[in-house]
Amino acid sequence: MDSSSKPTQGNPYRLLPSVDEVLRDPGVMTLAPSVGRAMLRTFAQRLVESWREEISVGSLDAQGLENRLAGEGLGLAMGALVDQDRARGLRRAINVSGVVLNTGLGRAPVHVEVAARMEVAARSFCVLEVDRLSGERNRRDERLSQLLGRLVGCEEGIAVNNNAGAALLTMHALASGKEAIVSRGELVEIGGSFRVPEVMTAAGVRMVEVGATNRTRIADYENALTAETGLLMKVHPSNFRVVGFTSEVQPAELAALGKQHRVASAWDLGSGLVEANTMRPLGASVGGETEVADALASGIDIVSFSGDKLLGGPQAGLIVGSAEAVARLRQDPMYRALRCDKVTLAGLEATLELILAGRGDELPTRRMLLATGDDLEGVSNKLKDALVDLGFQVQIVAGESQPGSGSAPGIFLEGPILRVTDPARSPAGLAAALRASDPPVFARVQGNALLLDPRTLLQGDQEDLLKVFASLPNSAGA
Ligand SMILES: *Cc1c(COP(=O)(O)O)cnc(C)c1O
Repeated sequence: MDSSSKPTQGNPYRLLPSVDEVLRDPGVMTLAPSVGRAMLRTFAQRLVESWREEISVGSLDAQGLENRLAGEGLGLAMGALVDQDRARGLRRAINVSGVVLNTGLGRAPVHVEVAARMEVAARSFCVLEVDRLSGERNRRDERLSQLLGRLVGCEEGIAVNNNAGAALLTMHALASGKEAIVSRGELVEIGGSFRVPEVMTAAGVRMVEVGATNRTRIADYENALTAETGLLMKVHPSNFRVVGFTSEVQPAELAALGKQHRVASAWDLGSGLVEANTMRPLGASVGGETEVADALASGIDIVSFSGDKLLGGPQAGLIVGSAEAVARLRQDPMYRALRCDKVTLAGLEATLELILAGRGDELPTRRMLLATGDDLEGVSNKLKDALVDLGFQVQIVAGESQPGSGSAPGIFLEGPILRVTDPARSPAGLAAALRASDPPVFARVQGNALLLDPRTLLQGDQEDLLKVFASLPNSAGA
């Protein structure tokens, strides 16, 4: 290309490189090994098209295009397209939103030792469905079942893809083609399109609603029982709460009614609080959640809960209960479709083993939920000083974090929060710039400030968070 310094004039279309010219550029060629030639061609087409588009609307002239093509321009432009494309994938993010179990950010991050066990399972052959002593086939979740028994006192336990899957399997295995009785106060929709009536329909179950939104009595269930009844179902209303003149049926009453009429009973517990006497109780932080062990002790046949909510493990739906009821679930073909893979099972086993070893409070989500205002003071002050040095205005205020994911609605965890304002941009602009960073940072905007909640930071996040702030284009300090 002519590199004379006099301004370029004339037809910019003539300067537009062909796709093949882009691909022959030395800088672009270095991208090929990591992107692949076919994909690189697609990016080159996209680049040439976007420049042609800019020319056609008059936002790019010959001089502008020449500047873009100068030096390593083509390689840089293509590199930017490749980076943009990669940035769309699943990648680590920093959570300063203060929502601990943030569904948008993947809920519970697992303990590093749990992650290590999952990694080994992912990259190697595993003893998954074979007994290593006899060489016979066995069940993939035998160990999990044993660990769940020790932790929550169930006879049997199994795991499926998630708790929505657990509810679907429970309904299908116990009541497909029959009726399930459920309280009108529990016909809830739980974030992300889990609606109890729709799940029932998908499971081939005829739903029989009883009671009223605010009050349901055991007699309501009893009166609805017929020869067609296959299941008495209880659902945790999750992020929905009825207050005032209310009554709900006691689980023990429901279990007893089921036993009396030989009808199965099930409780979709949702977040599923699991406590062991080796752990600091989480109950107060998550306000009145029923413990899985207590739910089982009520005599209900099947209790289901998520693996990645309060348990703090990988995404899964855990189903615990009587040997007889769990056996019916295991025999259902839907279980074969919903069961967990070796990586998830390895993570669940490792999580339960940590808890049973008395190290449950080390689980990241538990640590976040248990942290007091005092615990968070040190990191808040450090962050504040560093951000002030970068030119941001920062105030530490008393704030509230949330457990999230429908666990503990209306419960807030008190602690220090950083109110950050950037002289260079609006709070929404700052939040957007943080999300676009690497790693992306997710904060909350409130009024005229950005809120950073240190509760949801993981080990190592603090340094990276500050690097992101320092690297913001025209950051306050730059
Ligand atoms: C969260 C929740 C679900 C859905 O669980 P996933 O693990 O997200 O599939 C179902 N029921 C209740 C009561 C819940 O709280």
